[in-house]
Amino acid sequence: MGIQKVGIIGAGTMGNGIAQACAVVGLQVVMVDISEAAVQKGIANVAGSLDRLIKKDKIKPADKDAALARIAGSTDYAALKSADIVIEAATENFDLKVKILKQIDALVGAETIIASNTSSISITKLAAVVSHPQRFIGMHFFNPVPLMALVEIIRGLQTGDAAHAAVEAFAKELGKTPITVKNAPGFVVNRILVPMINEAFFVLGEGLATPEEIDNGMKLGCNHPIGPLALADMIGLDVCLSVMEVYYEEFADSKYRPCPLLKEMVAAGYLGRKSGRGVYTY
Ligand code: NAD
Repeated sequence: MGIQKVGIIGAGTMGNGIAQACAVVGLQVVMVDISEAAVQKGIANVAGSLDRLIKKDKIKPADKDAALARIAGSTDYAALKSADIVIEAATENFDLKVKILKQIDALVGAETIIASNTSSISITKLAAVVSHPQRFIGMHFFNPVPLMALVEIIRGLQTGDAAHAAVEAFAKELGKTPITVKNAPGFVVNRILVPMINEAFFVLGEGLATPEEIDNGMKLGCNHPIGPLALADMIGLDVCLSVMEVYYEEFADSKYRPCPLLKEMVAAGYLGRKSGRGVYTY
């Protein structure tokens, strides 16, 4: 039968993006958040995103209405009861996710797959919280979800083959290309990406080149669509630093040492686009 009804916890950036990706391919979605305002904001974001697709002639106005009609919002976890998969996309905080997973676990049947969209928390550790850890898996979408083709599927130590196969098929149904990854800090993409960004700060701090030259070097020399320093400004320098700190601690390996310049800039409040100033000024 496959996955027909998708429950999503969290109507924020990722939650509403996942809701849209599911609804446009015809799946029923229930999106749960803690307040009615958060739920409504999530649904409004989906509507706005679909409007942009209409403007670009990618979808018709009727497609927007049909997609929105498939998304129900709620502040009540009971709405998730009949979902075939529940994807947790709430705020990145371990204790909060444990609390949420216990709530979901108490509600859904043994057949329901529970997935987390966490960027940095161990899938094995989260799987240990639920009663059927073989049905627990990581589904790491990329932002903005409707546009990004990749989903990293993360197998915790306990994840079973059936859940993995179902989630792989589900990701393909959403039009995504999944890659399967073993559980480890940063999974695959961020494990490579964030140390590269950190290295760009070392290069900058050593005065080897200007920010523009570093970014142009990686754009023109490696065909990256955006340079690492401009990307750091988009992600947030504080987020990049905290990811490096996690790697440094978890792997206990000096190759993940956060760059002192990155630390200084975060200490100064130069966090990137969101603070108006990072490597560049906005
Ligand atoms: P966000 O802050 O935009 O949204 C989080 C939402 O979770 C908020 O609307 C919040 O009200 C809601 N929430 C908090 N507690 C809740 C609860 N108990 N029940 C239901 N909802 C609750 O965050 P985001 O950027 O969407 O990130 C969500 C998850 O996705 C995190 O685990 C993050 O690491 C991961 N992620 C983020 C990105 C990204 O680029 N933003 C990319 C990949 C993965």
